[in-house]
Amino acid sequence: MNVMRSLIFAVDIGGSKMVCGVLNRKGEILRQWRTEYSPGYSAEDLFQYVREGFRVLNAGEDCSVCGATVPGLCDVHTGRWLYAPFSGLSDIPITDILTEITGFPAYADNDVNLCALAERYFGACRNIRDFLWITVSNGIGGGLFLNGELYRGSRLTAGEMGHLTVEENGRLCGCGKRGCLEAMASGAYLSAIYEERNGIRLPTKKLAELAREGDEEALALFRTAGTYIGKGISHAVNLLGLDTVVLGGGVAESFSLLEPGISDALAHCVFDQGNPEVHVIHSPLGQYAALKGCAALVLDEEMRRQSI
Ligand SMILES: [Zn+2]
Repeated sequence: MNVMRSLIFAVDIGGSKMVCGVLNRKGEILRQWRTEYSPGYSAEDLFQYVREGFRVLNAGEDCSVCGATVPGLCDVHTGRWLYAPFSGLSDIPITDILTEITGFPAYADNDVNLCALAERYFGACRNIRDFLWITVSNGIGGGLFLNGELYRGSRLTAGEMGHLTVEENGRLCGCGKRGCLEAMASGAYLSAIYEERNGIRLPTKKLAELAREGDEEALALFRTAGTYIGKGISHAVNLLGLDTVVLGGGVAESFSLLEPGISDALAHCVFDQGNPEVHVIHSPLGQYAALKGCAALVLDEEMRRQSI
């Protein structure tokens, strides 16, 4: 491999923002560029942003491969982005397009899966073969690492924590069902519940500030959300025998506010003969988990293809 061009061009496509980066193979971010957009974007818009990021970062100079993360369903084997929530985009040959833009081989997968992969390669789970990653932000998603590998499941939807039922006849979820974890504990729902009770809509960050200042209602909101997250975790732990769970995403930045509810639920719901101890930790990767996940995907896929 040409040492001068061994870096990775990473593209983190979010629902309302894109972050491009140049990373080395230790997952360190050397340069980055970001842009924001409204959710009704077209595929053409998105790839125009990728072109811009690639140019601004001068990634053609020292990168040799591209890794990308997308919201929704992505087939890592065929490189097709099958379905994107909110935007309505579907069946986009994303890796072919990225190769066309960059001239590099390209890999892509779902953002939550890649956060889990980043944790395994660069984060808190470097020596842990089995764990669950949960993103708690505007939505809730999960990524499963089992037997030292990312587990995607036969329908590529494994780890969909956000749609575990945690409250019978609970709030209506975006998926059309009731009482899903996402409908009971995501940032969007915390804001919605607060608005219903108080008539003003506050972002989760603001609600977290209020809670830290001792506002009883905000504290109770996070505690309840933590309890639901803990219920979801308990189901996963009881099913899979996991002992490590990593929380990331914007709402998880308020980990200490969620923790009492999570601990409560674990104490109530985990089958402890089989699972003596469960560690629930906050991701050390912060807001860059997905971007680092792009680099982790490249390493993982290169290794997998070499071993075939
Ligand atoms: Zn749902």
